[in-house]
Parts: sequence; structure tokens; C-alpha cells
Amino acid sequence: MRRIATSLAGLAVVAVAVAGFAPGSAAAPAREPVARADSAPAYYTLKLPTGLTMAQLVRDGYDISHGHGTRPIVVATPAEAKSLRDRGVLLAKSGSVYKPLVRGAGTTSTTYYGGYHNVLGHEQHNAAVASAHPDLVKLYDIGDSWKKAKGQGGHDIQALCITKLATGDCALNSTGKKPKFVLHAQIHARELSTGELAYRWIDLLVTSYGKDPAITSLVDSRELWVVPMANPDGVDVVASSPSQPVMQRKNVDSTTGGCPADDAGVDLNRNSGFQWDVHEGGPCEETYPGTKAVSEPETIAIQGLLDKIFRDTKGDVDQPAAVGTTGVFLTLHSFGNDILAPYGYTNTDAPDKAALVALGKKMSGFNGYPVSTGDGGIGYFAPGATDDWLYGTRGVPSYTFEVGPDSGSCGGFFPAYSCMDSTFWPKNKAAFLYAARAAASPYGTLPASNPVS
Ligand SMILES: [Zn+2]
Repeated sequence: MRRIATSLAGLAVVAVAVAGFAPGSAAAPAREPVARADSAPAYYTLKLPTGLTMAQLVRDGYDISHGHGTRPIVVATPAEAKSLRDRGVLLAKSGSVYKPLVRGAGTTSTTYYGGYHNVLGHEQHNAAVASAHPDLVKLYDIGDSWKKAKGQGGHDIQALCITKLATGDCALNSTGKKPKFVLHAQIHARELSTGELAYRWIDLLVTSYGKDPAITSLVDSRELWVVPMANPDGVDVVASSPSQPVMQRKNVDSTTGGCPADDAGVDLNRNSGFQWDVHEGGPCEETYPGTKAVSEPETIAIQGLLDKIFRDTKGDVDQPAAVGTTGVFLTLHSFGNDILAPYGYTNTDAPDKAALVALGKKMSGFNGYPVSTGDGGIGYFAPGATDDWLYGTRGVPSYTFEVGPDSGSCGGFFPAYSCMDSTFWPKNKAAFLYAARAAASPYGTLPASNPVS
């Protein structure tokens, strides 16, 4: 059976390929670029010569992964690898971008690349969960994607609030009684595992309610907010090639023009209203921060939501959060197996650094990711990031999780879909549950253990 299935799959690939080249074919297949051996990007570890910094390479347009793992990683084509070597950088190939996949496997109208949910998949899921659990879920449209704002199609940015709904719960204000935990995902479109973790988190909460005592207690006593897909326009680009996803990190704001297809857009995780840095990158670079802070509709949507639901408990950048601050915010990224705590724009300690790291270490106890702050020792700062903004302006403990290793079948931006169940979800589920529990008193006495298996 296995042998027959394989050969049939092979025939199907040939048939699709022939159809794709048929002259005058009316129904064009989904864009499926096959990376040629001489142009395929790969991951490399890099060691810099004296006088060259990681920040300089980022400014020069190199795609350096933003985890703080023990070794920085660059995604480079052979031509880019050569130019780096010409500048004295020592490179060693650490892995392939695309994992082995039977062409088209896991691709449906709502999934791609082995099973990851596309925008339609998330939208249908959000609607279905809200409809099936009206006592537990409020679904919000918190703003528009760039394309929608421009009248070019696009999407609403959606947020769910999950709790056992009582009067005043899940309102768009900061007067609710229940502490809030926010899980925010796929602001960087190509970071595939992140939206999928949010999807599973939503399902865990609504399906365990009334069955698992610890999760029931959490859903009774917290507002559990989820933004499963903060950059849907970007995800449309990524998923437009279902077997070999496109490396789109940013939104699709093409106002500045002149960039190659997947290099256009604004880095939404450099566009916040806190420590925004005009020097972060040019328009085609992966960390381009936009023409000004909060220039993008996606940033307006996310900051708008967080601004409404969290009280401002913090003064200036060097002032600590007020005692009694509640809430925890996690923004999911990949990759590097890291927990990053504020600040990410500077190596100057955040005023609450000790408490922020203490909570980070508690979460690390569940997923095993080490905690770091600042540039993580590799010269990679993140001015204008979402988590710095929320902590820096509101005092809410805010973290970046960099999900996944930098090599192997679960490594990089495009891990095999099977990695969701084998490692990413089991590793992070308990960390999310812990963060939600800690939201009641994140700067006070932290919960000692997690009762949820
Ligand atoms: Zn990211």
C-alpha cells in the first residue's frame, strides 16, 4: 500500500507540474516556486570579524534571526553568503529552510505546508469557537490590516476574549475585575508555529472548560485574550506557496515601493510607539520600522486593544511598575528557544528587571527556554517592539517567546508541521497556563507550581 501511495503521489506531482505549464491555462495553480539548488536560501551560523557588528549586518539588509540563542543565525542565499564571506564573516551552514514534504501535503482551503492554518482557517476557527461557546468567548474585530485599510481586500485583525462571561467581563476597558492574560501571535507572518500555538490554546481553554478543574478555574477567574494572527496580510503572502512558504516577515505596506516581492512592508515588531528608531532599517530590510511610530493599521489595532484593556501603572522609562499591577502579555515569535524579557531596545536594565526575569524563569521551568534581556549578548536589539511598548508604557510584564530550535526538522521559520504536536505545543502549553495564573499578581508572590498536566 505504501509503495502504491508513494507512486500515486509522484504521478499527482507530475500532473500538477504539466498543468502549470499548459499554455493558456485558465486556472493558474497556486504559486509554487521551486527553489533552484543554486539560489535556495539556507540557515548559517555566523562569526563576525572584529569591527563588524550584528546590528550593522541587520542595517545592511541581512536577515539575521532575532532569537538570542547561543548562536546567531542568518538566512542567506548563496550570493548573500558569498558577500558575507567576502566581508570576513565565518559562515557554517546549519540547516535547510524547507523540510521534507510530499508536495501539497496538508494543503486544503484552510491549511498549507503540512497542516498550518492560513488566514481563512483562523477566521473560520475564531467564528466557530465563538458561535459554539457564547458563554465563554467574545470575538472582536480590533482593526484592519494594511490592505483592508487601503480598500485592497485584506482582513480584520481579530481578538478573542475567553472567560466564563459575567457582566462587565471582556469589555474593551480596563475596569474588568478579572486579571488579563494576552497571547499574541504571528505578527511576523513567516513564523508559522506561532499562530498554530494560539489556535491550540484557544481550543484547550474552551474544550477543557467544565472538564479539567484547573483550566475551569482559570477560565472562571481570568480574561484570556488571544490575538491568533496579528499580521494576516503577511500570512496570505506566506501561504500563497503552500508547499514552500514565502519568507514574508513584515506586513505588506508597499507605500515606499521598489522592494522585491517578499522584502516589501513594515516590520510590525519595530513599529510600536515606544523607543521607535528611525535608523532601524531601510524600506526593503526585514526590520524596516516604517516612516514613523505607529504608522501601520495593524499596530494601531494591537496597541489600541492593549491600551483599552490595561491600566497605565508605569511612569517614565526608568520608573518601575506600580505595586499591584496585574496582567501578563506573551508575544510569540520563532525561532531560537528563548524567552526575552524587557527591555529589548537597550542593555540598560528595566526598572523591574529582577521581577520580570523571575517570572520569565518560572515560565522557563515549563518550556526550558532560557531567559534573557537586552541584546542577549549578540548585539541584536529590538527597538519599537510590542512587548517593550506594553511594559514600557503600561507596566504589564511582557515577554517574547522564540519558539523552536535553529536546526533540525523542527528548526527555523518553517518547521515540519508534526513538530507542533511532538514538541512546540507540549513544551509551551504549561508555560501559557502558568503565565495566565501569574497574571493576578505578576510582581507579587508567584504561583509555586502548575496544577495542570
Ligand atoms: Zn518574530
